[in-house]
Amino acid sequence: MSGSTNNGLASAKSQSHREMKLVTREQVIDTGLNALQEIGISHICKVCIFHGGSCCSGCRNLSDQVGCQLRNTSCTAWLCGFLKYMLYKTGLLEEWNDFWDQVPGQDYREDFTPEMFFMKKGLDIPDMQELSAALAEDLDLLAQKQGNPDFILSLRDKLDKNIDQFYYYTSEPIHKNIKRNIDRLADPFHRFHQALSSYQPERSKYQASR
Ligand code: SF4
Ligand code: SF4
Repeated sequence: MSGSTNNGLASAKSQSHREMKLVTREQVIDTGLNALQEIGISHICKVCIFHGGSCCSGCRNLSDQVGCQLRNTSCTAWLCGFLKYMLYKTGLLEEWNDFWDQVPGQDYREDFTPEMFFMKKGLDIPDMQELSAALAEDLDLLAQKQGNPDFILSLRDKLDKNIDQFYYYTSEPIHKNIKRNIDRLADPFHRFHQALSSYQPERSKYQASR
């Protein structure tokens, strides 16, 4: 009896191991960086950094003229409000979060991720350059119109907070309220909304949550 239970466990264990893939920390960082390129991070960062919003500001790992000196899983996984909003609107935020939830040892501006570990799920992000270029243009125009660069940086943080709350709360009325807040904050993103309405990601499995 106990023998058959052990056999069952062993078979379940080997089954689950077959589904897992051994990956290196470097591979995971490369996967994340490639996905960020697909999202079109450079369009948005260019505007954000120009208006003083660099998220690397003050980091001891940032070297003048060279950039980041410490590639790590934590910073690769982290999304600011603008990037989070793009993934929220395209229905890909869970894809992103599910991938990074499997990566151990994430911290603040450094990681303690093992050099090798097992993962089950990959990360599949389609090309979103046209959306990020449109959002970058919206943000630049907004900053100019407001005459205050802090406006878009504060908008970034409010989007971040509201989207986190959207996924945290499960009650329908709270959800509705938060969704309304996000829509209101993103109301001035005219070019982005227009680009999103005609956006057709290459991978049909994604359903945008417009
Ligand atoms: S906060 Fe976002 S948009 Fe700004 S530099 Fe960092 S990743 Fe780029
Ligand atoms: S460690 Fe993170 S915050 Fe620091 S420079 Fe590198 S990417 Fe930027």
